[in-house]
Amino acid sequence: MRLIIITLVFLILTSFKADLSGTWNRIESNRVIVYSRPEGFTKTNSPDYLNLQKILLEQNQIIELINQKLNTNFDRKVEIYLFNFDEAKEKIGTNGGGYCSSKKPRIYFTYYDDPIYNTIRKKKEYIGVHEMVHIITRYELGDHKTKFFGEGYANAIDGNYGAIKIGDSLIRRTIDTTMKLIVKSGNILTPTELLYNNKVHERNYYPQVGCLVNWLFAEYGVDKINAMFTLNARQIDKNFEKITGDSFKEMERKYLLHIENEAF
Ligand SMILES: [Zn+2]
Repeated sequence: MRLIIITLVFLILTSFKADLSGTWNRIESNRVIVYSRPEGFTKTNSPDYLNLQKILLEQNQIIELINQKLNTNFDRKVEIYLFNFDEAKEKIGTNGGGYCSSKKPRIYFTYYDDPIYNTIRKKKEYIGVHEMVHIITRYELGDHKTKFFGEGYANAIDGNYGAIKIGDSLIRRTIDTTMKLIVKSGNILTPTELLYNNKVHERNYYPQVGCLVNWLFAEYGVDKINAMFTLNARQIDKNFEKITGDSFKEMERKYLLHIENEAF
């Protein structure tokens, strides 16, 4: 069995301006509008009607899932622009996923004929959870000032980072699986490092910050963590005790104990 580790890039290219020129088909249901290319627009496939229905259902379900986890009531319409694989790199700067707009409730993403299996949601996913978390947190909690919470929330709720190829199928790689390897290798990042060190490689940072934020939700309740979402790093550190009852250092001690002795 061939096992290849692939890092799916979920780029945040806020400076990259998506090129929306050309014809779009539009389809809408509940809270989601999907724009996609007409059949034959480029050499790689455009989504057909059946796939578009699956994408609408997926993203509507994911909005509900995120609202439940974050105790929010996001109910805006989200626009999703799906670029064909062979045009995506030129038009949105990547064909390894996509990103969300920093100004509108809108996602730009690459369309894959064969979506990736998510073992947590037990479904194949076209667009997935990550980008929608960025959108919902921005409208419901405000603009984040730290990667700690910005990427922490997205990775925590997604529960996956990257993908592995097993045989011919791509499978999302759970954060828990990755954390087991990280714990074994002894390269655990402390909450202080995750809060202040912005230079850690994404591959190492995303799973660990996702794991921490999930633990924070479980330990202190999502509402208390939400209350700190828009603070900067120093403010999070300083206000942690007032909001949760534990100082940041005390939280760190508990978290590291949990990671080293209990969780994995
Ligand atoms: Zn992200």
